[in-house]
Order: sequence, then structure tokens, then C-alpha cells
Amino acid sequence: MASVEEQAPAAAAAEREIAVENPATGQVIAHVPDLGADAVAELARRGRAAQPAWEALGFEGRGRVLRRAQRWLLDNAERVIETIVSETGKTWEDAQAAELAYGASAFGFWAKQAPRYLADERVRSASVFVKGKRLVLRYRPLGLVGVIGPWNYPLTNSFGDCIPALAAGNSVILKPSEVTPLTSLLLAEGLRESGLPADVFQVATGRGATGEAVVDAVDMVMFTGSTETGRRVMARAARTLTPVALELGGKDPMIVLSDADLERAANAAVYYAMLNTGQTCISVERVYVEAPVYDAFVAKVTAKARRLRHGVPAGPGSVEVGAMTHAPQVDIVERHVEDARSKGARVLVGGAREARPGQWFEPTVLADVDHDMTIMREETFGPTLPIMKVADADEAVRLANDSPYGLSASVFSGDAARGEAIARRLEAGSVCVNDALVNYYALELPMGGAKASGLGYRHGAGGIRKFTQHQALLVSRIHPRRDVHMFPYRPFTTRLFTRVLRLLYGRGRRD
Ligand code: NDP
Repeated sequence: MASVEEQAPAAAAAEREIAVENPATGQVIAHVPDLGADAVAELARRGRAAQPAWEALGFEGRGRVLRRAQRWLLDNAERVIETIVSETGKTWEDAQAAELAYGASAFGFWAKQAPRYLADERVRSASVFVKGKRLVLRYRPLGLVGVIGPWNYPLTNSFGDCIPALAAGNSVILKPSEVTPLTSLLLAEGLRESGLPADVFQVATGRGATGEAVVDAVDMVMFTGSTETGRRVMARAARTLTPVALELGGKDPMIVLSDADLERAANAAVYYAMLNTGQTCISVERVYVEAPVYDAFVAKVTAKARRLRHGVPAGPGSVEVGAMTHAPQVDIVERHVEDARSKGARVLVGGAREARPGQWFEPTVLADVDHDMTIMREETFGPTLPIMKVADADEAVRLANDSPYGLSASVFSGDAARGEAIARRLEAGSVCVNDALVNYYALELPMGGAKASGLGYRHGAGGIRKFTQHQALLVSRIHPRRDVHMFPYRPFTTRLFTRVLRLLYGRGRRD
């Protein structure tokens, strides 16, 4: 493996270094450069210089590189998983299913779908001004895209958006979280070995200031992270009128109706709340259960959560819940649990930070919570499952929507049609019925947040078109030397035009 310094091309220009820790052990495992604005500007210069040749390769040439990268990812699966586990503290399975599998499918998906989603579109117009002309909508790469990512999924949520950005013909600078830069550097190596031309993909390691420098230097920003930082990124991008897409925080509700299959609902609640130690933007963050099944549901969830093995990931199948990735996040989880406890919530499982090296919080189940508690209002982003009793479905919908966030949601009901009707009333970018979160793997479906959870979409056609300029082309092949609407203006043609307008549009109703 190349050294971290070799992988970060602008290392020489870095003023400082960042120590990368394994959050499951607290040990420092690497150092990466903390790039300043000048170093980022240099990356941008190189990225722009490399972009035209990359664009000129066309969909087929770019697709070939992306398919080779897909193969590289699987050939190097163990190394990729080990790198992710070492810098996030997550379990082997969380790295395999939600990161490696996602990355492998995304390389193939965008290689195959980019030509379809970005094909020129022939447009027909009703306007008399353009009769006989060829109208085309073309998706033109923006040039240099900046992707800024969080620490919870360094491959899926940080590197993942780089794939469609590259497939569209852009150069990319990826600014990973300072907490988890190693996966991005490893993937840069993978892309190089897969034949990606130099400087088309570059990694800008650093902290928030490096992210700001990326915002200043690129033609479009794809940001994934907290709502608070998303607002800062958008404000900064406004200075240069740089377009942004934002994938932000969430407080995803699960609704369990009294006719639900409680066993499935409880399994889903525990899994989708504790997956990745609860550090998933679309994890189940709060549960509303109809009164008749509340006690039974709480009992099932409690029994299942007690059985979770929690500890340092030591290879496949060793634990279900790993460490927390980012130290300040443990403080947030502790604050939310303590606030709930002090206001009368019952802590049925876990409920405490663990005193051992690294960042640890116990898988935690809370019952008898309500909306006066922070844990039901603010994003916790940890291994917590607060469960609230509601009178009926209407109350569940009202409380689910009583949030500034609107990322994802789920509804459990024995009657799928009833579940879907409730899903349609929820203010969320995506809603699953008798399921949660797996919509993320359907790359054909748009994924994006409502309200304070984001702006724009990843996945689907919108997930790649956002990396392009929607360029309108009009080509006139057969035409007179002078069109009737051109100078000079004459009374006859003006009156004629009035009659034509009446003929075309004068038939509307006059109520
Ligand atoms: P942050 O908002 O703290 O950071 C995200 C990225 O932005 C990091 O790379 C960070 O760098 C960088 N950054 C920080 N300040 C600035 C700035 N002023 N300008 C530009 N970039 C900056 O988020 P977290 O890393 O804590 O990630 C957790 C959050 O991400 C949660 O709220 C979660 O819900 C959300 N998320 C949303 C997803 C979605 O798809 N909607 C998916 C995954 C996570 P550094 O880390 O070095 O400070």
C-alpha cells in the first residue's frame, strides 16, 4: 500500500497534519495532511486541466474505468473493509453491506445508467418562433465538482457521490471528514490502478477550513453532513453563486400500527436503529406505537436489544454493534439519554457511556418518552431507540411530522394499503412500509430530504443530472434570410402577428 503521504498529492503544501484514530481502540493509526486554501487551489487547477480529456473519453471510455474500479473494489474487499473498520470502529458487516456492497453496485449502476440519464433529449416546442428548428436538451458536465462528506459512511456517503460526478464527465475533489480520510485515499489509489487519468479525482484531506476552500474553488458542491454545516456551506457558496446539493441530518420516525406484524417491526426497529451504531442519517431515531400493542412491542424490542453483542470488531460475525466514530457524538448521545431519563423516560437497555479506550455508548432502549424530551426532537445519531405510546395513527402522523427534519420514515401495518396511505401523509423524502432504509440500495429511486434534511437528490436521474449544466441547444438548418419578427418593424406584420396570437391563444375560457 502506498503511504498516506504518497496518496495525497498536495502533501508537500500542507501546513499541518491530522492524526487519524481507531475509535474502537483510541490508537492513532495514521497521519494525513491538513491542506490549506493554497493547496486546495492547486488541486483545483490540476483538476480543471485534466477534465476536458476525461470528458472527451465519452460515456463508454469513462464507463470502462468505472467498471474496472468495481472489479478493483471486490478484488481488494478485505483491505477496503479493514480500512473502513479501522477508522470508523464499525462492525465488519456494517462495512461490508452498507459500504462495500453499495460502492460495488454504484460503480456498475452509474457506468450503465449515465449514458441513459444524460443522453441528449430531443425537444418539441409549441412556440411558433422555433418551428422547423432542432431543439436539444444536453447535459453538459459542470467541470470541477467538490464533494464534501461526513464520517459515518466514508465510502457510501462521502466517496459515493463522486461516482456519478465522474460518470458525468467531471473532475472531482473529495474532502472527506478529518475523522475518516483513509478510505477516500485508498479509493483514490483504486481509481488510479483502474486507469483513471491523473488529477481527475483528488482527495483534499483537512478540516472545516479545507472544506471551505473546496467550496470556493469548485463549480458545484455536493455536501453531506449536518444541517448546521450545510447552512454554512450554502451561505459560502452563495458568494460565488456556486450551485449546491445538500444531504443533511434527519430524525426518522417509525410508526407501528396495532395490526402490524410485531415480530418484524421489532426486528426492524432494533436493526435499523442500531445498524452502524445508530450513526446512519436514515436510521430509525424515534418510534411511535399504537397503544394496544405498545407493551408487547416494547417487550420484544427490549429482549432483542439485550442480546446484541457490543464491542471491538474482531472480524466477521464478532459483534453486532461497534464503536461510535466521532468523540463529540458520544457527548450528544449521553446528553439526550440523560435529558430523557431526567424527564421520566424508562431506560430498559443500556443507557450509559462505556469507560474503556475509544468511543463507546451502550445500545440503549428507552420507553415512555414524549416530545418534551430532546431525544424525540434533535438528531441523536447514536445507538438509541426511544419508543413512545400514541393513541392512534393520526396522533402518530402528527408527531412524526412535528419535526424540522424530513429525511426518511417508516410505517408498519398488516394492511399494506393502509400503511401506504399513512406513508403518503408523512413529510419525508422517502418512506418505507413494513421496511426501513433499504430504499437507499435502490439506486434508481431518488433519495433526498424534505424540510431541513436537504436540497436536491442523490440516486436516480436527479442524482447525476445535478452534476451537469442543462444546456439548451437550438439549431436552425433551413431558414429565410430574415424572420418576420426581425427588424424593421412594419404595421402590417405587427397587425398580422396580433391576429396570429388571437388564433393561437384566443380560445381560452373567459369565466
Ligand atoms: P459535519 O456537518 O460536521 O461535517 C461534514 C463535512 O463537512 C466534513 O467533511 C467536515 O469536515 C466538513 N465541514 C465542516 N465545516 C465545514 C465548513 N464550514 N465548510 C465546508 N465543509 C465543512 O457532519 P458530520 O461529519 O458530523 O456527519 C454527521 C451528519 O451528517 C449527521 O447530521 C447526519 O445526519 C448527516 N448525514 C446525512 C446524510 C444524508 O444522506 N442526508 C448521510 C450521512 C450523514 P471535518 O469533519 O473535517 O470537520
